[in-house]
Amino acid sequence: MSDCLFCKIIEGSIPSDKVYEDNTVYAFKDIHPKAPTHVLVIPKTHIPTLADAQDPTMLGELMLKVNHVANDVLNLEAGYRVVINVREGGGQEVFHLHAHILGGKKLPF
Ligand code: AMP
Ligand code: ZN
Repeated sequence: MSDCLFCKIIEGSIPSDKVYEDNTVYAFKDIHPKAPTHVLVIPKTHIPTLADAQDPTMLGELMLKVNHVANDVLNLEAGYRVVINVREGGGQEVFHLHAHILGGKKLPF
C-alpha cells in the first residue's frame, strides 16, 4: 500500500531501527518507546487491523515470530507484554497490523 507508513518502513523508503527481518515479518524499535524495550512486529503483507485478518497461518506466524524476537533477539528472559491495538477505539493509530513487544522492566498492570 503506497500510503501506508509501515509498508514504507518495510520497503526502506522511510528509515527505521530494525531489530529483525525474515520473509514474513519485519521488527523495529518504536519511535516513542513506552518501556525500556519497545519493538513493533509487523507482517510483510498489508493487513489494516487484527479485525481484518483472516489467515490463520499468517496470524500464527506473526505470534511465533513475536516470541522469537522477544526471546532470541531482545533477550527478554524475564518476560514481556504483547499488545495489539485494534481500530480507533482500541488506540490504533497506524493501520497496518502490528504487535507491540514491551519489556525490560516489571510492567504495571
Ligand atoms: P498503534 O497506536 O498501536 O497504532 O501503534 C503505533 C505505534 O507506531 C506507536 O507506538 C508509535 O510510536 C509508532 N510509530 C509511529 N511512527 C513510527 C516510526 N516512523 N517508526 C517507529 N515507530 C513509529
Ligand atoms: Zn501497510
